[in-house]
Amino acid sequence: MNIHEYQAKGLLKGYGVAVPRGGVAYTPEEAEAVARELGGPVWVVKSQIHAGGRGAGRFADNPQGKGGVRVVKSVEEVGANAGEMLGHVLVTKQTGPQGKEVKRVYIEEGCDIRRELYLGMLVDRATGRITIIASTEGGMEIEEVAATHPEKIIKVAIDPVTGIQGFHCRKVAFGLGLEGKQVGAATKFIAAAYRAFTDLDASIVEINPLVVTGAGDVLALDAKMNFDDNALFRHKTVQELRDESEEDPAEVEAARYDLNYVKLDGNIGCMVNGAGLAMATMDIIKLCGGEPANFLDVGGGATRERVTAAFKLILSDPNVEGVLVNIFGGIMRCDVIAEGVVAAAREVHLHVPLVVRLEGTNVDLGKKILAGSGLSIVAADDLGDAARKVVAAVVKEAA
Ligand code: ADP
Ligand code: MG
Repeated sequence: MNIHEYQAKGLLKGYGVAVPRGGVAYTPEEAEAVARELGGPVWVVKSQIHAGGRGAGRFADNPQGKGGVRVVKSVEEVGANAGEMLGHVLVTKQTGPQGKEVKRVYIEEGCDIRRELYLGMLVDRATGRITIIASTEGGMEIEEVAATHPEKIIKVAIDPVTGIQGFHCRKVAFGLGLEGKQVGAATKFIAAAYRAFTDLDASIVEINPLVVTGAGDVLALDAKMNFDDNALFRHKTVQELRDESEEDPAEVEAARYDLNYVKLDGNIGCMVNGAGLAMATMDIIKLCGGEPANFLDVGGGATRERVTAAFKLILSDPNVEGVLVNIFGGIMRCDVIAEGVVAAAREVHLHVPLVVRLEGTNVDLGKKILAGSGLSIVAADDLGDAARKVVAAVVKEAA
């Protein structure tokens, strides 16, 4: 799960990470009120969307205009700039060409930036450790730095047995060229960010830029946090920060029913039980010359409601021109699947060819339900047969 910059800053601040003062606003009037409360002379108006690259981004209705992060010098300008952002679609390198509508802005005190650095923390799957990534090249995308100047990346892996130690932090601080009291400030900063990471079961904490101010303070000017969905159940405070309007609507719907759904670019919708079988199904569709429209694992113990929801989800994608249901009923019973498929097909007035391959527990009962449904369902005997039939049906449909 992803959260907004201002929310990440709020969480990090609670752990002792230094951040500028600021407040969120949903209207230009609220933005001015926040600015007045903060006091001047300089404010920054920041579009809050779940994507980075806002500063360099442009608004869809004014592609020549200013970006999604603006430095201003009066309360009136705060209001005016908030008005130019709220309700408008911001396009950045990370949003894709369709962009994202800005629904909230963050008003922050302006900061006297001396140096812009990069600090990130993530779970490195190669070492199985939380790893700090730092670089003197702040403000830039870290992937770009890694590609063009790999020598400028500092990596420090943290042994979970010891947790973060002073020497880890000093290694990063010295690598960033910090000196004097900045080293102590950075050490405190990094240790606090690590505590937030582990305590809240984050998967990413990214501070880009981490700045050194004219006064020598070390501050997080931007903050991104991602959380491990499997641990969300034990963090109510984090769950409450979810902004569903920022997420893909089909994936939000899928999560509601505990379905593993990933939208893809093809035209053959797939409903499969088990991630491995779902991958194999996608492979065999491609082998037969087709393109899957999605990955969807309905899980082992799906109910009829869940199958219906899954089916509707697949058909909500306008690219879908045919559906392949491939179920191996082990824990899952084939009759339950069949009932779900029939119910859903009726409910959505199925308008594309449907190929079903069932195998396993109660398969005969399942096939009987499908055959007796009166719907035009193509039955398949095995996976190869099913894939060939759905690809042929889609091609025929297109002709
Ligand atoms: P994004 O990464 O989405 O572009 P950032 O929060 O990193 O957004 O902001 C972009 C740039 O704007 C920063 O690199 C920094 O130079 C400037 N900036 C952001 N917040 C402030 C602030 N509070 N004071 C001064 N400059 C800021
Ligand atoms: Mg940034």
